[in-house]
Amino acid sequence: MTKYIFVTGGVVSSVGKGIVTASVGRILKSRGLRVSILKLDPYINVDPGTMSPYQHGEVYVTDDGAETDLDLGHYERFLGVDLARSNSTSTGQVYEEVIRKERRGDFLGGTIQPIPHITNEIKRRIRAAGQAMGADIVLVEVGGTVGDMEGQPFLEAISQMRYAVPPEDTLSIHVTLLPYLGATKELKTKPTQHSVRELRSFGVQPDVIVTRSDFPVARALREKISLFCNVELDAVIALETAESIYEVPLYLEAAGMSGIIERHLALPAGRSDLEEWRSFVERLRSPKATVRIAVVGKYVELHDAYLSIKEALIHAGVDHHAGVDLHWVHSEDLETRTAEEVIGDVDGILLCPGFGDRGLEGKIAAVRYAREQLIPYLGDCLGMQMLVCEFARNVAGMPGANTTEADPRTPFPVISLLSEQRGVADLGGTMRLGGYPCRLVADTKAHAAYGGAPVVRERHRHRYEVNNALLPQLEKKGLIASGWSPDGRLVEIVELRDHPWMVGAQFHPEFTSRPNHPNPLFRGFIGAALEYSGRRQRAAAGSIA
Ligand code: GLN
Repeated sequence: MTKYIFVTGGVVSSVGKGIVTASVGRILKSRGLRVSILKLDPYINVDPGTMSPYQHGEVYVTDDGAETDLDLGHYERFLGVDLARSNSTSTGQVYEEVIRKERRGDFLGGTIQPIPHITNEIKRRIRAAGQAMGADIVLVEVGGTVGDMEGQPFLEAISQMRYAVPPEDTLSIHVTLLPYLGATKELKTKPTQHSVRELRSFGVQPDVIVTRSDFPVARALREKISLFCNVELDAVIALETAESIYEVPLYLEAAGMSGIIERHLALPAGRSDLEEWRSFVERLRSPKATVRIAVVGKYVELHDAYLSIKEALIHAGVDHHAGVDLHWVHSEDLETRTAEEVIGDVDGILLCPGFGDRGLEGKIAAVRYAREQLIPYLGDCLGMQMLVCEFARNVAGMPGANTTEADPRTPFPVISLLSEQRGVADLGGTMRLGGYPCRLVADTKAHAAYGGAPVVRERHRHRYEVNNALLPQLEKKGLIASGWSPDGRLVEIVELRDHPWMVGAQFHPEFTSRPNHPNPLFRGFIGAALEYSGRRQRAAAGSIA
């Protein structure tokens, strides 16, 4: 019998609802329960694949090739599982399905309405998320904030589900912000009260309220929320802004979260075991060294655009007992200032994924600097393609070499369109997406980073690819294709022979990184950056002596 936990948000968005959901998932999983998780996104886009990172942050990619909300990344990292297409749903998908059925004549002449047709499709998807994983508990997070017009069908569906089953089969968690008024130096509960009232107007009474605040919450304030919102006092959980998102499962558990859930859902008595998680957090808190990493991209103002990359760097750092000091660099800055000025003080350079031609020459400048100064470099998707272009231009004697995405008339198209992409007109969901095997070449840095594994599986999101016709000329000059698709058609990893650690991956290694299992390429990259930093410090000490 599957039970459901619904997580909604109030007052404002971006208060960490996704982290709370993922953390509750981690806690329940640590009690030996099978947990599935579903993100309901109220926007009308079918998926975020076509949205600008400025609008929506990173597009996360699942192994089965779905382009999803970045919260799926939190879920996978916190739960340590691989999720699938069925773990995320948008209003666009719900309507697309209902309209498809209507066109097929499935509704036998009926009038199609939000209730019951849209709500039925939402409920079907919620149940399917549980069935797909044989889950004991399905966590369902509703994107946006209670009161948003586009979220209403989701709340209605949740309300119907709650009325249809015994009370101990569902739980409602509401996550709200307690704003702080500087003038009176107090946290305010009124917006939370209004938000709960709004939620109740859909027939959904919260069982647990998690308040988010930048300051400690006095017991009297929790009592007030408990009284005005009809939630038991111990189920009003104050979550102060944590130093790291990885602390949140520990905070929530210390506040008694799993006991409250056990009581409400009538779960068999049990205990959570967050020891492995706690040891990760302890190492995160007490690094023995620090490396400074330049993260070069074109959406760096919004760190959420590169969320999984940021987390993967943290995971790899913790594995090496090192803190990672991120230096966000706008690729266009490298077009107006020298690399020495912008990234002269870093121990490693990570070049981000991207689309289009904005900032591309700045990216080439970053690659050149890493190559010439022997600074560890990790190229991520477009970052790998730029590694190839720069090498072609400045080492292999191919002036103007480029990707045909940026310059369709380049004399040396070292990166060009995948043959199956020629003629593709739709932009949504048509890239090479999801997990594919990659065969590693022996005696390469990539092979060593992956611990000698012959074949690995990583996730992709791209249209362009290394052009095999020009590869031999690059190989002659010291570029090594160290990872291939098993059929030998597609180059998946490249590296430089004459450089301590310069590697580029056509896939996105960040999507498979987990707190206690960093992605091997990220781990190798941070390891090389630590060595580089050590050499730099010794050289500096030597020159002072
Ligand atoms: N724009 C490039 C391509 O489509 C790289 C994509 C990416 O970095 N995710 O191949």
